[in-house]
Amino acid sequence: MAEKRDYYEVLDISRSATEVELKSAYRKMARKFHPDINKDDHAEERFKEVNEAYEVLSNVERRAAYDRFGHAAAGAGAGGGDPFGGFGGGSPFSDIFDSFFGGSNGRQRAAAPPRGADIQVGVSLSFEDAVFGAEKEVEVDRLETCDVCHGTRMKDGKTPPTCGNCGGSGEVRRVQQTILGQFMTSGPCSVCQGEGVTITDPCDGCRGRGRRRQYRTIEVSVPAGVDDNATLRLTGQGEDAPGGPGGVPGNLYVKIRVKPHKIFERHGKGIHSQVGINVAQAALGDECEIETIDGPVMFRIPSGTQSGQQFRLREKGVPDLRGGSRGDQIVTIQVVTPKKLSEDQRALFEELASSLGSDIQQQPNSKGFFGRVKDALGAKA
Ligand SMILES: [Zn+2]
Ligand SMILES: [Zn+2]
Repeated sequence: MAEKRDYYEVLDISRSATEVELKSAYRKMARKFHPDINKDDHAEERFKEVNEAYEVLSNVERRAAYDRFGHAAAGAGAGGGDPFGGFGGGSPFSDIFDSFFGGSNGRQRAAAPPRGADIQVGVSLSFEDAVFGAEKEVEVDRLETCDVCHGTRMKDGKTPPTCGNCGGSGEVRRVQQTILGQFMTSGPCSVCQGEGVTITDPCDGCRGRGRRRQYRTIEVSVPAGVDDNATLRLTGQGEDAPGGPGGVPGNLYVKIRVKPHKIFERHGKGIHSQVGINVAQAALGDECEIETIDGPVMFRIPSGTQSGQQFRLREKGVPDLRGGSRGDQIVTIQVVTPKKLSEDQRALFEELASSLGSDIQQQPNSKGFFGRVKDALGAKA
């Protein structure tokens, strides 16, 4: 077993760090190594280490003992020989994380740390923002740990006194004598309502609740390629847990709505558009400008282009959200027949008509087999 690191070193704070500094260092480290965020192999281990360090240093008695005697005295990780077991019933974090990660140390399960509520908000994006990504701001209204008392609920951030009735466990055990022998029963402490502490001098900032409602503007980095109806998760940006820094903040979920574009339509990574050309361009071919999401590009329409024919502009579609190749743009050609003709144009069409003759071509039954295959290939984005 590797040698245990110093708790102050784990949280990157000085030995004289205040409760506030300790809490803020813990939050920073816990977010950094949270296994939901950090996919590094050692993140889970570091996350446990951070929680263990915080668990000891946030408790006044345990911190004092750790300062004097080191790891042995603090009891964490000492295999059940916790000298302060009476205060908190062992090490709640190690139990929780062992159960999360499939291990078991055979000890009694402690209650899960309180978790803050998740928040859901919506954000509306332009078509371009969804394709290229954007920095957006969302407004949230969330409960945060009170910044006056830092969640202690007491005036001036004092540590609330341990409940004298239950000794801080929040639970009271009674031995009952019955005809069948002695029974041990336990229930929540009636003095502190199971909280283990008594709020003798409540904080003015939160009226002793430990959390306050705050309006925040949160920056959201929308990744390039996000589609309508996608949801982004911002871990830890939900509400803070009740009961101070030992809890886990909830998540912020941002639901994406993408506004329609006036000329482009999206199908997965493909962008579809329609271009109208005249009969002369269709028959003779032409060099023309076609709008893409990156701006206009020159495109050579081949002679003999039919209405409904599709062309593919490589890599003018939507970037891959997971870093793969960019999609294509599919341009569908519409041959637009003129509705009004000038004298000159009419004369030219009449000349053309006599040259082309008046035979009508019988087309095969809707689309033949090859036509369907060709269309399917052309339309695939
Ligand atoms: Zn407060
Ligand atoms: Zn109590």
